[in-house]
Amino acid sequence: MLKIGAHMSTSKGYHRVPVETLGIGGNCFQIFPHSPSMWRAKLPEERKIELFKDAMIKTKLCSEDALVHSGYLINLASPKEEVRYKSIELLKLEITITEMLGLKYLNFHPGSHLGTGLETGIDRIARGIDEVLSSIGDTEVVLLLENVAPKGGNIGSRIEELKMIIKRTSYADRIGITYDTCHGFDSGYDIRSREMVEKLLAEIDHWLGLEKLKMIHLNDSKYPLGAAKDRHERIGDGYIGEEGFAAFLSSDEILKRPLILETPGGNEEHAQDIKRVKKILGIERDAND
Ligand SMILES: [Zn+2]
Ligand SMILES: [Zn+2]
Repeated sequence: MLKIGAHMSTSKGYHRVPVETLGIGGNCFQIFPHSPSMWRAKLPEERKIELFKDAMIKTKLCSEDALVHSGYLINLASPKEEVRYKSIELLKLEITITEMLGLKYLNFHPGSHLGTGLETGIDRIARGIDEVLSSIGDTEVVLLLENVAPKGGNIGSRIEELKMIIKRTSYADRIGITYDTCHGFDSGYDIRSREMVEKLLAEIDHWLGLEKLKMIHLNDSKYPLGAAKDRHERIGDGYIGEEGFAAFLSSDEILKRPLILETPGGNEEHAQDIKRVKKILGIERDAND
């Protein structure tokens, strides 16, 4: 069965997310565990957790198909000790929130070396992950490194860089990856033909093993291949385009994973994007088309 959903707002409470997910025609989702542009975060109240878990049961959504997306300020590769320290502390809190919600996957951007070089940046990230996971102890939560656009000293725009991070941690078995189609396109991974999709999958398999690929962020790109702009676009409206997604989604390996939209707009736009994906796949036809 196709697993598709979108990044959802939690402004009306975590418990609204599962039912709103069904409302947009989805069966998986992504949320932020706190305001993503702030360092301050607090644990959700017990009552709210219970409401959320009830809603998950009622909607029959699978907790392993849901993704928690880390805050944007986190940068384990930062050369500034204060930022690195705060990043570690916030990641630990996010893992705790993910676990409290009964979810499994916490997605985060590896970080930016801010001009201090790839090698030291990768070392700092691996060390940071080790500090987070050794301090948090036993947890079911799996960290997912997201491939990012190659800009601003970002680390992890190439699959090989994700591999280097994972290989240097002491917790390789507790880390997977999310593949973001817009960021990948920004980095020059062309997924607009079946042949190139197979090449990408072979690269992931070669460096990491395909089982490390847990989630897909399904986004079109406002800019051409290799532009490194990180500007997401609605499905089919960007440079990947409907035909590009038809190629990408023709792979069973891709379709096994939850597809999570981070396209512009809210629930209404995401509902349309989900319809568009289903149409591309020939699953559903919009009567108005
Ligand atoms: Zn992201
Ligand atoms: Zn993403």
